[in-house]
Amino acid sequence: MKKKYERPVLIKNLNGFSNKFGYSHQIEIKDDIDNIPIKKLVENYGSPIFVFSEKDIRDRYHRYLNAFKRGYPKVSFAWSYKTNYLGAICSIYHQEGSVAEVVSEYEYKKAKELGADPDKIIYNGPYKSENSLKEAIEDGARIHIDHFEELSALEKLSDEMGKKPKVAIRVHMDSGIYPLWSRFGFDYENGEAKRALKRIIEEKKMDLIGLHTHIGTFILSPEAYVKALRKLIDLYKWVENEYGITLEYIDLGGGFPSKNRLKAQYLPPSIAIPPIELYAEKIVNELLEHFSYSKGPQIYFETGRALIDEAGYLITSVHATKRLPDNRRALILDAGVHLLYPANFYDIPVYPAQKYDGVLEPTILYGPLCMNIDVLRESVQLPYMSPKDSLVFHPVGAYGVTQWMQFIHFRPAVLLIGLNGEIDIIRRAEKMEDITTPEFIPERVRLFDE
Ligand SMILES: *Cc1c(COP(=O)(O)O)cnc(C)c1O
Repeated sequence: MKKKYERPVLIKNLNGFSNKFGYSHQIEIKDDIDNIPIKKLVENYGSPIFVFSEKDIRDRYHRYLNAFKRGYPKVSFAWSYKTNYLGAICSIYHQEGSVAEVVSEYEYKKAKELGADPDKIIYNGPYKSENSLKEAIEDGARIHIDHFEELSALEKLSDEMGKKPKVAIRVHMDSGIYPLWSRFGFDYENGEAKRALKRIIEEKKMDLIGLHTHIGTFILSPEAYVKALRKLIDLYKWVENEYGITLEYIDLGGGFPSKNRLKAQYLPPSIAIPPIELYAEKIVNELLEHFSYSKGPQIYFETGRALIDEAGYLITSVHATKRLPDNRRALILDAGVHLLYPANFYDIPVYPAQKYDGVLEPTILYGPLCMNIDVLRESVQLPYMSPKDSLVFHPVGAYGVTQWMQFIHFRPAVLLIGLNGEIDIIRRAEKMEDITTPEFIPERVRLFDE
């Protein structure tokens, strides 16, 4: 193979140690996804492209569920639509037995369209349109109340419709995770949660069936879940003792971390992220303190990130290379922050997709937008790469393909690799009419007749 030539430059020696793990002189490459060569994917489907592994989704789902069920059988998942609501992805979770967890009218309707059981849908969020509340009451879905205005709205709808909404309340509490997500739901510590419960029960306009919390996202402390659970169990027992009502479920929300790296995170993911089995052990032990093996309430987890992040890859290719005036190496890629919003909060690991030689050098990764903010990694150790070489961002399965935006460029296709190597396009690349169809040009400003 012909060696690549690059103009010689002087750069500051960074082989020292920025932390006790230092810089590596080699990095891992990722040249296949589930044994499908990345080179072939790019040849056949273009670049950039998102790719999901069905095997990873299903294997991880079983591993996570079993981690809990071994100790406490009444555990289920509610798929968090906003984490990834591509139809094919949601359908896999529903096939596996997950109910739908939605936070908007759009997500609610989408879950029904995909065939999720309407009376099992968990409807969360601080903003539920009146129409969608009516629909949810009609369907017998589980509405998780966020604030007193919503509580009043539901009382009114209950009277008007002559049908009792099935409800839980969302509770926030001090679980040792700061800043507290105190903007969602009712406060545990100051008694607000009990006031809401009391009103729901005493007014008799709704069926109270559960308790819910979601303490945050990328929670690195298993202990935080134990603290939250303890407080919800306290409310659960209070409802039971005070009113003789046994609630059906406790919903502990989402928030388990994936093997990603928060920007402020000092330790690499392989060391910083506790395995799910550790969370499960602590949570199950706490449950068994209060309930017998199979008799307690159903426990729901609305796990999004931790289930899907590692199943998703973004393949991107080098469009051009630059030496910045300060001698830093820069690559211009065909994917940018418009496709990878989580890159604002995470230093998402990135790998060359082909073998390399030569030394590594800190490299800044720019996207294709004509915007200074379009930086996917500020500084990452990479070898010299030429135009058409590919890179793989991984994990990107969580929030990537829901928070992406159509900006300047067409959004790329999304592939799903099946268990037997089948490759399906689960979202085709965008076309002009996808973007312009909702638009209207008034005749007085039109340049030509239709
Ligand atoms: C976003 C969200 C989730 C999913 O959180 P992850 O951190 O992705 O697991 C679960 N429940 C609610 C209410 C949410 O808003």
